[in-house]
Amino acid sequence: MAVAGPANEPTLVALGGGVHAYLQPEGGWGLNNAGIIASPAGTTLIDTAMTTARTERLRDAAASVAGGRPVRTVVNTHHHPDHTFGNSLFPQATIVAHDHCRIAAARVGDGPSRDPSIGTGPVEVRLPDLTFATLAHLFHGDEPVELRHFGNAHTLEDVVVWFPARKLLFAGDLIFSGATPLVMDGCLRGYFAVIDALRALGAETIVCGHGAISDASCFDLLERYLHFVQAVAAEAFPSGKTPLEVARATDLGEFASIAHPERLVANLHRAFSELRGEPDGAPIAPVPQLFREMGEYLGHPLEWRLSLPCAHA
Ligand SMILES: [Zn+2]
Repeated sequence: MAVAGPANEPTLVALGGGVHAYLQPEGGWGLNNAGIIASPAGTTLIDTAMTTARTERLRDAAASVAGGRPVRTVVNTHHHPDHTFGNSLFPQATIVAHDHCRIAAARVGDGPSRDPSIGTGPVEVRLPDLTFATLAHLFHGDEPVELRHFGNAHTLEDVVVWFPARKLLFAGDLIFSGATPLVMDGCLRGYFAVIDALRALGAETIVCGHGAISDASCFDLLERYLHFVQAVAAEAFPSGKTPLEVARATDLGEFASIAHPERLVANLHRAFSELRGEPDGAPIAPVPQLFREMGEYLGHPLEWRLSLPCAHA
């Protein structure tokens, strides 16, 4: 596993009414976006970050826009370590997530994603305190904000944070802005219905789980890519070739220029699982193997640019 040099400085984008996007460029492996909802009664975070240093930077940003008021609630959009490993830095906060997020995060807690070579440093896994199945409401002052789960897609527990009055959506990793989608822990066949539900919201501003702030135009590329993976998998499946072999022989076409093409390997593992008739989210190859195969596809190990640049550099 390669631990690369520092990524760029995180940026805070004001979206109005005390709501901010916290972006960690360039949005690659482990570099997720978060949200800050600064309410009079206290602050809500949408996700944390993968390392203590990055979560401390997020916590400082939240305090700066909230007049020092503490974080009282953290919403985890799903269990992946880049979105949840910072939970323990908010001991006074209630951690809110989908029912399945708690189950999946508990598994990861003792699992290979804590591989020290990724560079997360020590992590105290803190699981969600309060979970729900499809809908919960969070109040930003008097403004209702919807926490919604639309079905199995990036994971089995994706939660979006939807501000109906602002047409503002925090989509978590259901959408990677400018990067290849990833369904290794999720569900390819279920994703399309989730995209339809997201489209129906009518969002005008979309803060994606990684990458730049987007708009509803992001759905089309996502949908085309997922259809592409299904088609490649369906054609190759009878051959008995491995996902890595199939990926290497695949012309990515319009998707070749999108960041992280190596995710095709992991996505094909998921597609093959579904073609074998296995249940949504069924175990596929272990995560270290998937990371290794994606590195083999690239010709070098995956890069985790988790260290922060000096705050005053
Ligand atoms: Zn994720």
